Formats: sequence, C-alpha cells, structure tokens
Amino acid sequence: MHVLILGGTTEARRLAELLVGEAGLRVTSSLAGRVAAPRLPPGEVRVGGFGGAQGLAAWLREHHVDALIDATHPFAGTISFNAATAAATAHVPLLALRRPGWVAGVGDDWHPVDSLEQAARVLPGLGERVFLTTGRMGLAAFSGADLAGLWFLVRSVDAPEPPCPARMEVLLDRGPFTLDGEREILRSHGIDVVVTKDSGGWATAPKLVAAREVGVPVVVVRRPPGPEGVTGVATPEEALAWVSLRGEERVARGWSRSSPRT
Ligand code: NAP
Repeated sequence: MHVLILGGTTEARRLAELLVGEAGLRVTSSLAGRVAAPRLPPGEVRVGGFGGAQGLAAWLREHHVDALIDATHPFAGTISFNAATAAATAHVPLLALRRPGWVAGVGDDWHPVDSLEQAARVLPGLGERVFLTTGRMGLAAFSGADLAGLWFLVRSVDAPEPPCPARMEVLLDRGPFTLDGEREILRSHGIDVVVTKDSGGWATAPKLVAAREVGVPVVVVRRPPGPEGVTGVATPEEALAWVSLRGEERVARGWSRSSPRT
C-alpha cells in the first residue's frame, strides 16, 4: 500500500513513524513548505502545494495512492477541503486525523472568538502585554493603530514578516513547550493576556495551565469548519488501525478477483 499523509503536525510525524516502522508501508508525507527547516518524518517526503484539489487528485492517481490521510493542522482549512474533493475525484479512501480541541477547566478565563481579527478587537479590554501564540501568519490582524498601545510577545517558528504589531518582541521557538518554561515567559515579560488558536494537543497546552495559575485571560480562536462527511479519528494509533483495515480490504478484493469462478 502507498499512503499519502498531508502533514505539518506532530500527529502526522507520529503516524508516519507508525506506518513506516510498525506496518512497513510505503508512506509519503506532504508538507506545505511554510517552515524553513521542518522536522522530517520517516518515509518519503514531498514539499509544496499540489495546485488545488485537481492537482492533488492527479497526484493521487499518478503515484498510485491507496489511502489519503489529512493530518494537517485544524486551522489549515483549504487543504482539508481540497483533500475531500480530491479523494472523491480519485476514488481514494480519506481519513481525517484531527486532535480534539481544548476544553476550558475550572479557573480558566477564556474568551472564545471566531477569527484573529475578532481576537484583535477584544484585546484592548483584556490586557496590555500580550503573549501572541497564533504563529507568524495573520499578524496583520494585530498591526492596526487601535492596538498601538499594546505590547506583544510574538512566538513563532520562523521570523514573522510585516505587517506586524507596532510594539513587539519576537521569540523564535517551536513546541513542545514545558509548564515551567511557559510560567517563566508569563512572569518575566509581565504578560497579562494570552492569544491562542484552539489547536488542541499536549505540545502547546502548558501555556493554558500557566495562564490559569496566575489568572491571566486567554483569547481562544475557535476552529474553522472542515469538510463534511469525512471519517475522523483523534490519534495516530487510530489512524494506523484504519489504514490496516484498508489494507485487509484490499487483500480481500485481490483474493476475490483472483479466485476461480465456480
Ligand atoms: P491551508 O490554508 O489549508 O493551505 C493553503 C495551501 O497550502 C493549500 O491549498 C495547498 O496548496 C498548500 N498546502 C497546505 N498544506 C499542505 C500540505 N500538507 N502539503 C502540501 N500542500 C499543502 O494551510 P495553512 O494554514 O497555510 O497551513 C500550511 C501547513 O502548515 C499545513 O500543512 C498545516 O498542517 C501546517 N500548519 C498550519 C498551522 C495553522 O495554524 N494554519 C499551524 C501549524 C501547522 P495547493 O492548493 O497548491 O495544493
């Protein structure tokens, strides 16, 4: 079997490890190419867009892909819709590997919003020293003159490009992050409000715990809707089980085609 993983997440890398290491399958991981030096998964890796849903469908056919797994970040909306269209066009089974979103606990002071722009609008009422953890894309939302009185600590893997907040410091780093480390960031920078996407997962969750401990409000950007009707799982292990089933079905189909008619 040849499995194509649409990646760019911790879960996608873990799944590639399972499919290559445990299942011994041919796996290609696809990365968008946004990060200059990405952590590479085992197996084959390709980088860059496919040219929309039709380009992805053509790739699936050309490379004889037997199963497609959309393990992209929950906020990567376009590629997930493209995957659904391409899988239907090329008649390739599709699975979405999506880590569950975070859930507020006792003591959390969360402010859910629908977009980065909406996050920017609610910020002035919540704090003045902002820990912005939404990545380097979309910083334009926080660059307006109305936010010029706020100071931002922007954390991203690669350096952001303008337009950016007027007053900011950049912290180049990538997860996983530790609770001690997040506590220290809030303390040493005098952070009084955190902004995050509802990415889910454990790797970037300690900032939520640190914020809860010191009573700092968190603006949480809700996930965009994904394509409907796609089978979904929450963990790489479940995705491995799904791929194994597809493999068994394939073998069964092969047997029924090759068995003599009676
Ligand atoms: P997006 O808006 O959904 O995708 C925009 C375009 O980038 C897609 O139409 C596709 O180009 C290309 N693309 C995206 N993911 C790809 C992949 N895995 N392999 C090949 N091409 C891909 O995505 P995005 O928000 O820019 O995110 C890009 C990548 O970064 C995703 O793979 C995602 O897993 C990762 N990431 C995103 C976030 C986030 O907050 N958005 C956070 C962490 C990681 P074509 O149409 O030309 O095929």
